[in-house]
Amino acid sequence: GAKVLHRVLNTAKGVIIQLCALLEIRREGLVCAQAATPEDDTARIIAAAGDYAALMHRPLHEVDVPHVRQALQRCLEARASQFGPELALYFASSGGRGMAAYVDAPRLGGLERHLLEVFCASMSVGFENVLLYHQLQALAYLDPLLHIPNRNRFIELIDTHLREPAGVTMAVVDVDDFAGINQTLGHGFGDALLQALGTRLGEHLGPGVVMARVAADSFGLLGPDAVVNPARLAAALAAPLAVQGQGLRISATSGLVRLGAASPQGAELLKDAHIALKQAKQRHRGAAHYFTAAMGTDARERMRLLRGLREAFEAGRLFVVYQPLVSLADGRTLGTEALLRWRTDEGQFVPPDQFIPLAEQSRLIVPIGEFVLRSACHQLKRLHDQGHAGLRMAVNVSQAQFRDPGFVDMLARALRETGVEAHAVELEITESMAAEDFELMMSVLAEVRRTGVSVAIDDFGTGFSSLSLLRQLGADRLKIDRAFVHEIGSGALRGTIARMVIELGRGLDMQVIAEGVETQAQRDALREMGCHEAQGYLFARPMPAGALETWLQGGPAAGGPETAAARPPG
Ligand code: C2E
Ligand code: MG
Ligand code: MG
Repeated sequence: GAKVLHRVLNTAKGVIIQLCALLEIRREGLVCAQAATPEDDTARIIAAAGDYAALMHRPLHEVDVPHVRQALQRCLEARASQFGPELALYFASSGGRGMAAYVDAPRLGGLERHLLEVFCASMSVGFENVLLYHQLQALAYLDPLLHIPNRNRFIELIDTHLREPAGVTMAVVDVDDFAGINQTLGHGFGDALLQALGTRLGEHLGPGVVMARVAADSFGLLGPDAVVNPARLAAALAAPLAVQGQGLRISATSGLVRLGAASPQGAELLKDAHIALKQAKQRHRGAAHYFTAAMGTDARERMRLLRGLREAFEAGRLFVVYQPLVSLADGRTLGTEALLRWRTDEGQFVPPDQFIPLAEQSRLIVPIGEFVLRSACHQLKRLHDQGHAGLRMAVNVSQAQFRDPGFVDMLARALRETGVEAHAVELEITESMAAEDFELMMSVLAEVRRTGVSVAIDDFGTGFSSLSLLRQLGADRLKIDRAFVHEIGSGALRGTIARMVIELGRGLDMQVIAEGVETQAQRDALREMGCHEAQGYLFARPMPAGALETWLQGGPAAGGPETAAARPPG
C-alpha cells in the first residue's frame, strides 16, 4: 500500500523532472490524477514544481491558470496526449483512470512527439496499479486488508520509540512459504490466513505491542522485551489458526532487534531485522533470531564480494562468453555481444548485474574492461580468419572506463595488436552514461569514432535523454531494453514502447536491435514493427568461444537460412 503511494508520488515528481530535462526547459509543471470511484471523479494535483508548487494536493478545478487547467481537463477527457497549443501528456492506468502532466513546452516536432510517446508509455508502466487519489491518502498509513499500520507508519513508530529505546524490541514475523499457500489455496485463503494471524498475534501479545504489516507476508511488532521475544512468538503460533473453517498449523520465522543496541533509525532497524530474519531462514524455518552486529551490513557483504572479484580477476577466473546478434529480415548471424562471466572456485556463477557495479565503483572495471575488449577482439579476429567475414563484435563499456584518460589509447592499442578491423567493433554505452556527463561523453565518443569503432546505445528506453542529446551522440544503433521486448504480447501495453523506440530509432537514422527475444511471437512482432536485428535465447544463449565457433559452423552463419536460426543453441 504505502509502497505504492510512495512510488506513485515519486513517479509523478519524476515525470516533471524528466519531462523538463527531456525538453530542456525550466523545471515547472503539474501532474494530476483522477480519483477512484464513480461518485468522485475529482482530479487532484499529485506533483507540482516551479511556479505551480503551491497547487499540490488541490483539485484540478481549483487550478487558477485557465489554459493549464483546460489543457489537463482536455487531456483526461480525451484520454490522449494533447500536443498543441498546450502540451499535456496522458498516462493510462489499468483501471481506465488516467493521469495527465502539463509542462510549459515550446512547439514540438514529429520526432520530439515520438520521444514523448515513448516516455508516456514507459511512465504508464510505473503508474500501473495506481490507486485513486483519496485512497492514496489512507494508504499512506494503513494496510487496506488488515487495517493495521503499514510499513511507512511502522517506521515512524519505531522512530518515536527510538527516543527511549531501553527495553524495547522490534520483530519481523514472516509466514513461511506464504507464496506457496497463496498459489495452491488461492489469494482469498491467503488473505484470510493473514487476518487470522493478525488477530492471533494481537490477542497473544496484548495492547502494549504495536503491530503493523511490513510486507505481503510479514508483520512488524514493537513492544517490551518481555513480550516481543522468541518464546512468546512461538507460544502465539503453537495452536492451529482457524482459517475459513479449517484448523491450519503455520510456521513463521522471525528476526528480532533490540532497539538500544542497533541502528539509530527506523528504516535501518527494519533492515537489521530483515538481515536477522534471513539468517534465521537459512538455519531452519520457524526459527527466531536476534540481530547482532556480527551479522554485518550490506556494505560488508559488498566488500567480501569485491575482494573475491579482484582475486578471481588476478587468478584468471573471469572469462568472456558470446551471444549471437541476428538479422530479423533473414535470420543471418551479424555478430555477437561479448558478456563477462565470473565463476567462483565453488563453481557458482555470480551474475554480472551484481559484480559489474562493484567493479565500477572500485574502478576495477578499467583493467577488467580492457581484458574483455582484448578477449573480444582476439576472438573476432579468429572468427574472421575462420571465414566468418563481416561479423561484428559488440563490447559493453562502463562510465568509469570512459572517464579513464587512457581509454582511447587502450582501445587503439587493442585494435592494433589483435589486428581486427575497427569498423567491425562496436562499443555499447548506456543512455544514462550519456546524460550524466555529456561533455566528457561527447569528447570521448569523438575520439572513439576516429578509431573507426561504432557505438550503440544499450538498454534504450530505461533512462531518458533529450532528443537533441540523442542526435548529438550520433550513435549507430539503438538497443531496446529487454524489459520492453518482454512486454510484447504480455504486459498491459503490448509492446507499445518497443514500437515507439523502433520508430524513434528509424527517425534518427539508426539501426535498431532488440535484446532478450525469447519467443517467436516477439520475433515476429519486432520484425513487423520494422526492427532490424535481435538477440535473445530464442536464437542462442551466450556461449563460450569454442561453442560459438561450433555454433557458427553449423548455424545460420552469414547467408544461412532463416529457419535454422530458431534451433536450440549448439
Ligand atoms: P546487457 O549489455 O544489456 O546484456 C544483455 C543481457 O541480456 C545479458 O545478461 C544476456 O545474457 C541477457 N540475455 C540475452 N538474451 C536474453 C533472453 O532471451 N532473455 C533474457 N531474460 N535475458 C537475455 P548478462 O550477461 O547477465 O549481463 C547483464 C549486464 O551486465 C549486461 O547487460 C551489461 O550491462 C553488463 N555486462 C556484462 N558484461 C559486461 C562487460 O564486459 N562490461 C561491462 N561494462 N558490462 C557488462
Ligand atoms: Mg550490452
Ligand atoms: Mg541491454
